[in-house]
This record gives sequence, C-alpha cells and structure tokens, in this order.
Amino acid sequence: MFGRRKHHEPAAAPQWEHVTGNILDLQLLPKLTGPGMDHWPSPKRYTVLLHPEGREPYQATIDVHPIDHPDDFYFSQPGAVTGFLVDPASGQVQFDMGDRRNSTKAHQTDLSLLEDQVLSGVAAPRGEAVTGPPWVVPAECPSCGAPVDQASAAMEVAPVCSFCERPLPVEPRARF
Ligand SMILES: [Zn+2]
Repeated sequence: MFGRRKHHEPAAAPQWEHVTGNILDLQLLPKLTGPGMDHWPSPKRYTVLLHPEGREPYQATIDVHPIDHPDDFYFSQPGAVTGFLVDPASGQVQFDMGDRRNSTKAHQTDLSLLEDQVLSGVAAPRGEAVTGPPWVVPAECPSCGAPVDQASAAMEVAPVCSFCERPLPVEPRARF
C-alpha cells in the first residue's frame, strides 16, 4: 500500500475506527537477529476476523513484535475476542491498546474480580423448578466467538448472539 502512494503526497493521518474481532490463528515468526535482540520472544503473526459495524466481517493479519510492547501487551490466544483499531482508507489494522482486553495489567486485575463474577453467576441446582430469566449466559458466543453483552442477554426471554443471531446457551440463575 505504501508503494502506490506518490512521493510528495503527505500521508493522510489514519482515521482509526474501533472494531471488535476474534483471533483465528497465531503463528510465531522468526526471531529478529542483531545486537540486543536475543532476549526478545519471537514476533507473532495474528490472523483475525474483524466485525466492523455496518460492514461485512473480514480477515486481516497483524504482526506484533514484543519489542514494540515491552510492558503491557496481552498476547491473546486463538478463540479470544478483543478490540482493534482499523483505518478503512489504508486498510491498516492494529490491536487497540486502549482496550483492556489487550492489557496484561487489566487481565491481572480481572483475575481478582473473577471470583465475584462467578459467585453472581451461579446456576440453579439441577432439579429446581426455575426457568426463565435471569439466565447465566456465556461471555462469548460458542458459535462465532463474538462477545456477549451478558447484562442484557441475561434478562432476555430467549437471548441470541448479536453477531450470528444463533441462540445462546442459557441456564436459569440460582434464586436466593
Ligand atoms: Zn455468535
């Protein structure tokens, strides 16, 4: 894409759009060589499926070198859903570092909050005659991997995924 741009034209500043995507694949690239490079982990090549609003989902690849993110980049694994920045004009894609799902520190904080969330999402014991909302719903759609708005899905009579519109698996939440 850079090759086509004429030499004197100033590069247009990217117009970053926030897009949710899921990680399809993660490959290790060869390590960089040279002074000071030996201790860095291998660069990673991510294949992601982006879900821009109002447009068709599409695939993109993003190369990430740990050297560019020495402190706080969380290396998500295939299957994860996270936030990206997309510049539609140039086609550039990068991880959205303002999204806490891409932050190692935020993940550590979330781990300590997880216990509370698990307790509030305890399913009713089997055999108890309760059904209907509020439900325990998964954080990600098992069909397409898109994030689920658990707060609103939990209260719907028959929650469906907002991306693929397949029904979400639900269990009645325990009543206390
Ligand atoms: Zn889905």
